[in-house]
Amino acid sequence: MIFSEALNDLSEVLFPPRCLGCAEILHPFNRQIFCPACNDKIKFITGSLCLTCGTTFSDSPAQSHLCGDCLENKKYFSHARAVFCYETFMLNAIHQFKYKRNISIGETLASFMADFSFPDIDFADYSLIIPVPLHIKRLRERGFNQSLILANALKKRRRIPVNFSLLKRRKFTLTQTGSNRKERKQNIQGAFEVRDKKMAAGKNIILIDDVYTTGATINECAKTLVKAGAGKVAVLTLARVVHH
Ligand SMILES: [Zn+2]
Ligand SMILES: [Zn+2]
Repeated sequence: MIFSEALNDLSEVLFPPRCLGCAEILHPFNRQIFCPACNDKIKFITGSLCLTCGTTFSDSPAQSHLCGDCLENKKYFSHARAVFCYETFMLNAIHQFKYKRNISIGETLASFMADFSFPDIDFADYSLIIPVPLHIKRLRERGFNQSLILANALKKRRRIPVNFSLLKRRKFTLTQTGSNRKERKQNIQGAFEVRDKKMAAGKNIILIDDVYTTGATINECAKTLVKAGAGKVAVLTLARVVHH
């Protein structure tokens, strides 16, 4: 065992990790982020979904169909699918990962995503994974791109290469939290560009992001890729805002 690993293990004993749901002390070394009780309460996205954006329908029959948003607004991706509902302690877990730089939480969340079976996605159809890029200013401020960590876990599991520089964010946008659907859509227009159109041409691409909120950012990315000649674009996110 190398010295830094030993130090790491020592700190896990002295400061054991706590469950992100209820703060109960977790068994060290297990690389878990939730206690078994909270783990059972995680809400995975299941049931009948919008065929395109993957929003859940709580009151509809088992058959899936399109939601109002997808009927009204053109989507440039074929499917968007998520692992978790973005609520309760999943909000906290993703916040710790994204804003508190807790990479080990991120890696655990990423493994949930890599292992999740997305019934509508045939991974054999895709030849490239692209994480939603951050603007260079945001990347410097945060120190890492959370979507790249998710993309890398998926790459390992599904054996599809990741390209994190093909899609570039050229426009700096302020955080979208709090703005409505229309504002988000306007803010994000023209924010991305494809660096090498030949690289994108004809490729079926999986776009990765942490959270699907209104879909404005992800749809703008998909639009940019499709206009650059990409084949179909599917979207996978860790979590999704669901409306009850
Ligand atoms: Zn717990
Ligand atoms: Zn929809």
